[in-house]
Amino acid sequence: MQQPLTQEQLIQRYPLLKKLIQYQECAWFNPNSCSVQQALPYIGLNQRDIEEASERLQRFAPYLMAAFPETEPTQGIIESELVDIANMRTVLEQTESVSIPNLLLKKDSHLAIAGSIKARGGIYEVLTHAEKLAINNGLLNTSDDYSKLHSDTFKEFFSQYRIAVGSTGNLGLSIGIISAKLGFSVSVHMSADAKSWKKDLLRQHGATVIEYRSDYGVAVEQGRKESLSDPHCFFIDDENSTTLFLGYAVAGQRLKQQLATQGITADKSHPLFVYLPCGVGGAPGGVAFGLKMALGDHVHCIFAEPTHSPCMLLGVHTGLHDAIAVQDIGIDNQTAADGLAVGRASGFVGRAMERLIDGYYTVSDERLYRYLQALSEQENIQLEPSALAAMHGPVVLTGSSSDVLQYQKQFGLDATTMKNATHLVWATGGGMVPKEEMASYLNR
Ligand SMILES: *Cc1c(COP(=O)(O)O)cnc(C)c1O
Repeated sequence: MQQPLTQEQLIQRYPLLKKLIQYQECAWFNPNSCSVQQALPYIGLNQRDIEEASERLQRFAPYLMAAFPETEPTQGIIESELVDIANMRTVLEQTESVSIPNLLLKKDSHLAIAGSIKARGGIYEVLTHAEKLAINNGLLNTSDDYSKLHSDTFKEFFSQYRIAVGSTGNLGLSIGIISAKLGFSVSVHMSADAKSWKKDLLRQHGATVIEYRSDYGVAVEQGRKESLSDPHCFFIDDENSTTLFLGYAVAGQRLKQQLATQGITADKSHPLFVYLPCGVGGAPGGVAFGLKMALGDHVHCIFAEPTHSPCMLLGVHTGLHDAIAVQDIGIDNQTAADGLAVGRASGFVGRAMERLIDGYYTVSDERLYRYLQALSEQENIQLEPSALAAMHGPVVLTGSSSDVLQYQKQFGLDATTMKNATHLVWATGGGMVPKEEMASYLNR
């Protein structure tokens, strides 16, 4: 076996790590970024897989409408608004001395049921599992009206089964709420970063919450261990699940429709830049996959991470993926962005998507709070700190660092094309943050 490199050898080979270790904000653009067609063979999933996920969500729409009346306005489809944030754009331009042509916000922060991007993947994976159990036991047919799942008969059936998950908060919230509603017995293994209001809310919904003093990696490991000892327990594996990934990927086709409705084009002369906050990588990876499949190569996907938890940037940049954690090079994984407090990235997502993620950058906690306050003042939209990691993207990509200019050259993005670009910030969470908690974010 090859000896792993020492920290000094790693830094020598990858000078960018020096900046990471010093918690400096930095950016890295992927020299191996390529077209969807070229990348597809490495992903192991395709258009048909996304369509199947979309069809499954359609089958469950009548159930969701019955079980969660808040989804009635969208006919049981959990989808978020896409809004223009022109006032915020002006503030960013003034404070950061850049020029941002168009700035949109995708409000997954306000998705029904779970108030975060996890309402896509997390809920989808639980529904997939429930459907499989019900079909295998002769209780359900794919042609049935799934609102029948909202009944005591089905709740009793699902109560024989357990679901477990490890989370920094939001994934646990989405999985806990939907699992408990269906009737499953659900345990959520929460890392030390998880906010107490999230744990309280889960308990109110009837989930079992197990708390850890350590980080996300340990919570996931414990959840995995617990489920291994119980054949009736299904473990939702945030680090490796292709089902979660596909639940997120459905967003691509839906965003394409929203853009069309709003008259926004994404093509060679009108590139679309999408900024996605990244924790373990499943949510932004799945969404990016869906976006590239739906909109093609003129959508540029950029991942955003806290300076204290740059796990995906570290894993992809060094090619070590899940064989390295930020703690291995002395980074503490302590951040106000609790949803992104992950030290080791998903090996599956890193490897599957390394050719399709165009760039990565890091953001300081201080900046997250500044953007949080500005967005609230300018647009009256309140997000949790993690979500604001994406807000820095338009500043980075319209800046004039040599890395950005090099990237623009690599993709033939000249000044005129950049003026026609749309910048889309993916707001990943915050819709369920209690008032007092939000007030403390705003008053920092
Ligand atoms: C989970 C989460 C993310 C990132 O998703 P990963 O799958 O962990 O990469 C981003 N923002 C918020 C608010 C989240 O809860």
